[in-house]
Amino acid sequence: MAIDLITREEWRARAPRGRYDEISRTRGVKVHYTGGRVDPALVEDHDLCVALVRSIQKHHMDGNGWIDIGYSLIACSHRKVFEGRGLHRLPAANGPGLNAGHYAVLGLVGNSGLTVPPDGLLHGLRDAIDYLRAGGDAGPEILGHRDGYSTDCPGEALYGWVKRGAPRPGGGAPAVRAPAFPGRLLRYPPTMYGGDVYAWQAQMRDRGWDLIPDGVYGPRSAEVCRLFQLDSTAHGWPLVADSIVGPATWRAAWERPIT
Ligand SMILES: [Zn+2]
Ligand SMILES: [Zn+2]
Repeated sequence: MAIDLITREEWRARAPRGRYDEISRTRGVKVHYTGGRVDPALVEDHDLCVALVRSIQKHHMDGNGWIDIGYSLIACSHRKVFEGRGLHRLPAANGPGLNAGHYAVLGLVGNSGLTVPPDGLLHGLRDAIDYLRAGGDAGPEILGHRDGYSTDCPGEALYGWVKRGAPRPGGGAPAVRAPAFPGRLLRYPPTMYGGDVYAWQAQMRDRGWDLIPDGVYGPRSAEVCRLFQLDSTAHGWPLVADSIVGPATWRAAWERPIT
C-alpha cells in the first residue's frame, strides 16, 4: 500500500516564515512523540488529528519561533501521513546540531491519554520512513529522539518499537511466493530492458517505492534496489547492497513482509 499523504494544503498548514535549509541526504530518521497528552478520541476522529497537527505547527512557529512545524512528516492512527517540512528540507525537532543527520517523524501519541500506538500509527510511521528513504535519500538508521539528545521522547512504547527495528504490525503476514527468478541479474550500467525488469519494478512500486514501472533498469531502479537491500538488512532480511537484483533480492521483493 502506498503512502496516504496529507499535503500541507489539505491540512491547511500555514506558510513557512522563511526559507528552509536544504539537505541532500540523511543517515536516517528519528522518531518522536508529542510529549504531552493526546486525547484518546483521536483514534475515532481524524479531524482531531488535523487539529492537533495545526496546533503543533502554531506552537512551533509562535512559541518556539521556528519558521515552520519542526517535523519532516507526522503519522496518525489512521495510517495517514501529514506533510511537515517534507523531503530534502532540514527539520528542527531533533535538537540543535542534530537535524542534518536525520529526518524527524512524529507519531501522534503522547505521555498520557493515547500512549500506546495503534497499528495504523505504526504503519503510518513505516510509510513515512519508506517515503523518506525512497524520495528523500534517508539512510537506514531508525532512532528515537532520545538517541543523542536528553529527552524521554518518543516515549516507552514508541521507543521500544524503534529498538525492535520499527517492524510493521502483524509481521507474520501470509507468505507470498515470488515468481520464478528470470535467470539473469538485473543491473546497471549498462541499461537493461525487459518484462522481468517491469515485473520487479511493478512489485517495488506496489511495496510503496517511488518507482515508475517502464521495463528499463537504469539509475533509479538501481538506487531503489540498493535502498531496498539496505532496508531489508536493517530488518532481519540480510541482502548485499550491490544494487543488483539477483535471486535473493528478487525473492525478497515478493516474500519479505510489507505489512
Ligand atoms: Zn522528540
Ligand atoms: Zn488521523
